[in-house]
Order: sequence, then C-alpha cells, then structure tokens
Amino acid sequence: MLLLNPGPVTLTERVRNSLLQTDLCHRESEFFDLQEEARTRLVDVYGLDPNEWQAVLMTGSGTAAVESMTAALVPRDGKLLVVENGVYGERIAQIATQYGIAHEALKHDWMDAPDLEKIARHLDADKSFTHVAVIHHETTTGRLNDIAALGALCRERGLRLLVDGVSSFGAEPIDFADASLDALAATANKCLHGVPGASFVLVRRAALARAASRTYYLDLVRLARLQDQRNTPFTPSVHAYYALVEALRELADEGGWRARHAGYAALAEQVRAGLAARGIGSVLPAAQSSVVLRAYRLPNGLAYAQLHDALKARGFVIYAGQGGLSAELFRISTMGNIGAADIDRLLQGFSDLMR
Ligand SMILES: *Cc1c(COP(=O)(O)O)cnc(C)c1O
Repeated sequence: MLLLNPGPVTLTERVRNSLLQTDLCHRESEFFDLQEEARTRLVDVYGLDPNEWQAVLMTGSGTAAVESMTAALVPRDGKLLVVENGVYGERIAQIATQYGIAHEALKHDWMDAPDLEKIARHLDADKSFTHVAVIHHETTTGRLNDIAALGALCRERGLRLLVDGVSSFGAEPIDFADASLDALAATANKCLHGVPGASFVLVRRAALARAASRTYYLDLVRLARLQDQRNTPFTPSVHAYYALVEALRELADEGGWRARHAGYAALAEQVRAGLAARGIGSVLPAAQSSVVLRAYRLPNGLAYAQLHDALKARGFVIYAGQGGLSAELFRISTMGNIGAADIDRLLQGFSDLMR
C-alpha cells in the first residue's frame, strides 16, 4: 500500500530496517548519542548556527510540538495573534484557549491566503500583541502561506513569529535568518520520512530565556535544558528516534531539503498535469501551493468514498477534505518513498475510474 495522505508516509527500506536495531535503555549513553545525533542533524537541515538555534525533541505527533511551542513561547504577559486559514491554524487558537493564553484569531476563508493588510491593521490597532502564529504549509488546502512577508510585518513591529512547519520542514524554503522567527514546530513523519512518534521544535535559545511554563510533559524549556545536558525527563519513543536519525542521514545523502523539494515538485506536477488531462482541476494555482500536497476538486457525480475505495483497491491511500471541504475536494500528498512510476499507476487508476 502506498500512502498519499499527509503523513505518516511510505517508508524507505533503509528507514524501515533502522527500526530493528538493538533494544536501548534511555538512561544509557547509547541513547544520548542517538538523541544528540538527531538534534545536531535537525539543526543542520537548514544549516542553522547551533549557538543561536536548538532542536528540542519530544515524543508525540506533530501536534505535540505545536502545543509545546505555543504553550511555552508566549510569555505570561504576552498576547498572540493567530493567523487562521485552515484546520491547523484553528488548532493553534484552540491550544491558546486551552492554556488560557491571551490571544485573538484572525480568521480567513479556508481557500484564501492570509490578508497581510488586514493583519497589519489588526496588529496596529492593539499594541499589546507580542507574538504572531501561522501555519507555513496549511495542509487543509495545500496552500503555502507567505511566512517571509509575515516575518517582515513582525520585524517592523518588533513582534515574534511562531511557525507550524509540520508539513513543510525538510522540503520547502524556510528563512531562519528572519530575525522575527522565534521557533518552528515539526515532526519526524512528514517531509523527513521518519515514523510517527517523534516531533521537535527548532527554537532560538534567546526565546527560551523569555518562555513561560504552562504544561508539564511538553514543557519546552525543561526539555531543552535536559537535552542540552544529555538527559531526558521521560521515556522517549526510542524506535521512532532510530528511524528519525536514519531518515535524516538519508535526507543528507540524497542532497538535503533542496533535492527533496525538487523531487516532490516533479511528482506534484506529474499528478496535477495527469489529473488535469482527465478533467480533474486543482483547487489552488500551483504557484500558491506547496510541493508537498495538493488539493483537487472531486469530479461531478463521484463521491469521495467511491474514489477512495477504488484507489485503495489499487494500492493507494488518498486523503479526504477536512471539515466543510470533505464534499468538495480530495488531497494527494507526494511525501515519502514515492516515485514517478507509482504516480503513473495512480493516474491509470483514475483513467479506469473515469471511464
Ligand atoms: C500533520 C500536521 C500537523 C500535526 O498533525 P499530527 O496528527 O499531530 O501529526 C500539524 N500541522 C500541520 C500543518 C500538519 O500538516
């Protein structure tokens, strides 16, 4: 079965086999070597300066990292503006509500890009805002939000930016030199091609110094401090760490995030052109979309369940639209161990179905 859903991904044999390594106690030096290699390689993916940036690992899915980042990095007396144009933006607002963090959500239609003028007006009307949170790749629609433009707005106003990069880290350009960027949360099992169970926050060391402590298990400051001391507060998902390290080695061997970006882009274009030739349109223009996942309009008279089941019988798992979009669109991700020949077979499946 090939997974064309937005994570977990189809594994390479190299990463799958890494799960079979020796059992490891997480209080032994071998585990801390593994943890250190993961952290060092994560900082290296975008060539960051380890004196400025730190990778903080945690056991949990991508949401754990987003929650840890949000709960820690808005100080007690801070206020967060959440830029919302999909399910994952809404999730950050829900996390802020859960922790009693002062915040406002600036809601957009899920089909729309963040409205920078509206965001600027909102920030200027309330000088108590200190932080802005945004999704980089809004997986709801496949839209790549312009975090560089939002970073510029933040820099002009001395605000700090928090980014959910769960479905973009490792495959899309990210400007970590943006001085407003305090942190980015991501996971092992999307563009990095690891297994679910390990996630992480890349955080500026300076931001940790201003952080709050609102959660016990996901306390970013404590996790960062202990990991810097080759320690860990709890039992980590050791096997997921094995897979993450192997996936990071593989990513480096294959040419890093730029090579991954190029590979995904070719597959995404192959899917787009192939579906267009079969009368199935893209929801967003390619220029506004990530290379990681694209959303497509369900053909007239074909329900998602029919499409899903027919493709699954041919060995492909596609993904439904979320919330109100489930009747309108379906999504195809090209993350993971997927090649051009797989996409040819997928398109053949569509041809059979449309006949
Ligand atoms: C997948 C995803 C998440 C996290 O989902 P989990 O199910 O917790 O891994 C968060 N944000 C975005 C943008 C995502 O695509």
